[in-house]
This record gives sequence, structure tokens and C-alpha cells, in this order.
Amino acid sequence: AEKLLEIRKLTTGFATEKGLVKATDAISISVKKGQTVCLVGESGSGKSVTSLAIMRLIDYAGGMIMEGSIHFHGQDLAAKNQEDMRLIRGNQIAMIFQDPMSSLNPVFTVGEQIAESLRLHQNKGNDEAMKAAVDLLKLVGIPAPEIRAKQYPHELSGGMCQRVVIAIALACNPELLIADEPTTALDVTVQAQILDLLRKLQAELGMSILLITHDMGVAAEMADRIAVMYAGAIVEEGTVEEIFDHPSHPYTVGLLQSIPGFEGERGGELYTIRGTIPPIGQLPSGCRFHPRCPHAMDVCRSQEPPNFMITSDHRTSCWLFQDKPVQTDYSDEVR
Ligand code: SF4
Ligand code: MG
Repeated sequence: AEKLLEIRKLTTGFATEKGLVKATDAISISVKKGQTVCLVGESGSGKSVTSLAIMRLIDYAGGMIMEGSIHFHGQDLAAKNQEDMRLIRGNQIAMIFQDPMSSLNPVFTVGEQIAESLRLHQNKGNDEAMKAAVDLLKLVGIPAPEIRAKQYPHELSGGMCQRVVIAIALACNPELLIADEPTTALDVTVQAQILDLLRKLQAELGMSILLITHDMGVAAEMADRIAVMYAGAIVEEGTVEEIFDHPSHPYTVGLLQSIPGFEGERGGELYTIRGTIPPIGQLPSGCRFHPRCPHAMDVCRSQEPPNFMITSDHRTSCWLFQDKPVQTDYSDEVR
């Protein structure tokens, strides 16, 4: 399938008292039409910054794109002005966040909020928009949608509210949905229902999803491809099968061993990766993971590993794989 989104060597940064510090470091990922790509990593790894950069909301968060490109439909979002971006944000790319309540307006009914999005993005008149809003509530699995449409966010559960947020996102008929930890604030049963809903909508509507999660279990269920982020860089990337069956980067292995019930789990106790992610602007020398890595070698402390190609579809940034070919051109190697 055609590449809908192609991020190449994207470096972003924030101005701090100590100067400009990088939040993401030359990251490259692509999302094809109809595909789900998961960005996985601990908090502070640069996942959310990446999504803000794609939407160019990073400009409003005190950050900036320092280098690289974000091609969407062949046009570089990194080079757009905010006026153009407003149109793209509303119409072609939609984003949903962790906390549905922060995305909803407490003083309008949920029906009005969906209808507003339809008026804005699909030029629908009032009555038509309200009818379409009810249809969208039905599409996202809300029972008795006519009644629910007249209710306010506080009258709905967290899971229902996240469904409403998804309905608002769908109102603009996006080709790409960016979902940043969309189920993290919800309890486990509701989480599963929302993930099911996203899968079902994707199958029906054919949109692409960039899903940001700290949860490898969520990635396992949702992803076609997984990109593992650590301290601002993608340290491993591949198909979901490659990542789960042949994890190569020690950080990925650690993440997998921390999943309950995963075979790497030791003696019923969840493995935790020792240490913490370095703050941005304070990267160690060499491999950024070396202070936490159980396999660190001399070379790891002095030289940053390039991407080694485990297969043509799976790359890892780790010196343990230095017998593999080095990735030369991202777009030629990874589809
Ligand atoms: Fe560990 Fe070295 Fe690989 Fe980094 S490059 S993950 S320190 S083995
Ligand atoms: Mg985040």
C-alpha cells in the first residue's frame, strides 16, 4: 500500500534555560494506508512530542522542528505554515488523547459537540449535522444514541466519553488518526472495548492509525508495525511479528519481559528495567541505553550504534548486531 505518512530523520527540540535540547533525534517512521503503527516506549521517550510534531502543535508547546521532514500525501508538514496546518488538522489528520474529559467541553451536549465538528469539516447544516452526530454515536457503539446525544459529558462514563471523542475525530473523516495513549485513563475492560472499537472502525473506514502507547500488550493487539522509542530515538522497528518473536534491542526485550504472562517473565515476577530514562538534554555518550543495558560493551559507551538490518523489514540500533548490514537509506529498506 501507499505510504500515507513518512517521517524522515525528524529532530525536534525545546528551548530551555540551558539552550536548545533535543526531544527526538533523527527519527524515521512511515505509516501506510490502512495500517496501524505503534510507537512504544516509557514516558519521556519522545512519543508524544512526535505526535505533536506531526500535527505541528509542537509550535504551540514551546518546541520546534529542528531538522527532518514529515511527508503526508507527499507534502512536507514540517514546512507548512499554521494556516495550512489548521486545514490539515481538521480534515485529514485527527488526534485523540489520554483523558477524554480534557477534549470535551463541559457546557455543551455531546451531540452538539459532534455536530459542531460536522458543521465545521463537512459543511453540514444544523439539522443534518445533529442527525449525523447521532449516527456517529451509533457507529462508535453508544447505546440509545438519540438520548445520549442530548446529554452532557459529566453524565457519561469515561469509556463513553472516549467514544464521543473518537466520534468527534471521525466527524472530519480523517485519513490518519493519531491516538496518544487513548485507553490509559480507562479501566481494563473499557480499554479492551475501546481498542476493539478502533480496530473495527479502521476495518470499516480504512483509515491509518498511529497509536502511541507505553503498553506492549496494547501494541501486540493493535499494531501492524512497532517502533520502539527510547530517550528520543527509535531503537528498534519492525513488524509486530518480528518485534515479538525476535526482539533484538535489549530495551525491547526488557519491555517484553515486563508484560504479565509473557514467556520472558521470571518466576511470576514482572521484570523491570533498572534505572530510568535520561532527561532530555542529558544523553549519555555512545548508545543512549548503555547505562541501563545488561549487555553493554566498551564500544557501547563511546560510539552511537547505527541501525543494523536484522531482516529487510526489521532494524535495530544495537552493537550486538554489528554483523548485520547497516541501514543505508531508510525509505529503500523499510516499507
Ligand atoms: Fe546495550 Fe550496547 Fe546494544 Fe546499547 S548498543 S543496547 S548498550 S548492547
Ligand atoms: Mg505521552
